[in-house]
Amino acid sequence: MKRRLLLVHIVALLAVILSSCSAKPERAESTVFAMDTLMYLEVYGDEAQATVAQAVERLYFLDGLLSAVNEDSEVSKINKSAGGFVDVPDEILEQLNAAQEVSRRSGGAFDISVLPLVTLWGFGTENAHVPSDEEIEAARRYVDYRNIELSGSSVKLAEGMSITLGAIAKGYASQTLAELFEGRGISSALVSLGGNVQVVGSKPDGSKWRIALQDPVNAGETAGVLELSDMAAVTSGGYERYFEQEGKIYHHILDPKTGRPSESGLLSVTIVCENGMTADALSTALFLLGEDGAIEYWRNYGGFEALLITDDGRMLVTEGLRGSFTQSGDAYTLEYVYGNGGA
Ligand code: ADP
Ligand code: MG
Repeated sequence: MKRRLLLVHIVALLAVILSSCSAKPERAESTVFAMDTLMYLEVYGDEAQATVAQAVERLYFLDGLLSAVNEDSEVSKINKSAGGFVDVPDEILEQLNAAQEVSRRSGGAFDISVLPLVTLWGFGTENAHVPSDEEIEAARRYVDYRNIELSGSSVKLAEGMSITLGAIAKGYASQTLAELFEGRGISSALVSLGGNVQVVGSKPDGSKWRIALQDPVNAGETAGVLELSDMAAVTSGGYERYFEQEGKIYHHILDPKTGRPSESGLLSVTIVCENGMTADALSTALFLLGEDGAIEYWRNYGGFEALLITDDGRMLVTEGLRGSFTQSGDAYTLEYVYGNGGA
């Protein structure tokens, strides 16, 4: 933890030095640790510095509001009030509505009420371990998005339930920042919140932003590059947050049906779409659904593009990404996926 903080400080210091050397257009960047994630922002244009400062403030604000761990957050308030209605701010309401839609469309694979399971497994704590079958069954009884009741600006969880916005909040945050930048007339910016990247406009030189896709098997390697403008690219995988017990890896995306880390045959899912919040929820949902379910979801609902990496070495890319995706190396066999009307 100390080393991470030191790194954050060094990067922040570098950021200040770099930005003070820049000529036109004004450029500012910042590295922040919030939402349990190292975050990076880069903004170009008039008032870039002031815009970044406002964005950082916004991130800390959202962190305070959305944390499932912080006892004082609005999400904790919802959890503590389970059994009764509680008023929620717009920032949360928007995520609840989006989450519920993805839950319905994914047949409950995506489910923000997995918190009892997340807590039981101890992800992100010193106490991460494989629970007993009985414990898993007991926690699973409280996991069901259909028992989250939304009415106007209030929400009610059934008795015993609790939610986490972990699978959608960073995407909501990147979307919020993109809107903040646009509102301030910024036409070139990038935010990278862990696996969540969102870009506004193109690079200052007019070329598209280049977003590297991590290789889920070979840590530190790049599996490909996406060239995008005005877009979010969000990746979910089992390789970033996990613990190891008796030589087996247990990652943090849980299948509500089994109460265990999902074993869908996918190593990572990247979603490309205009809205960062939607992209975040979908990356987790499609990761859980597996290859066939993910492709079916894309064909049925659309509105986004996807890139799936399978555990048997294939890279499945939906047809809309032809032209914006370039594979790096040959670790995976590239296959394009077509819509219902396609090949
Ligand atoms: P990351 O946070 O690494 O970007 P995701 O966006 O895929 O990854 O979100 C994973 C987080 O979402 C987990 O840490 C957990 O808090 C929560 N989560 C786990 N399983 C589910 C699920 N089935 N549906 C919704 N949220 C989940
Ligand atoms: Mg997600």
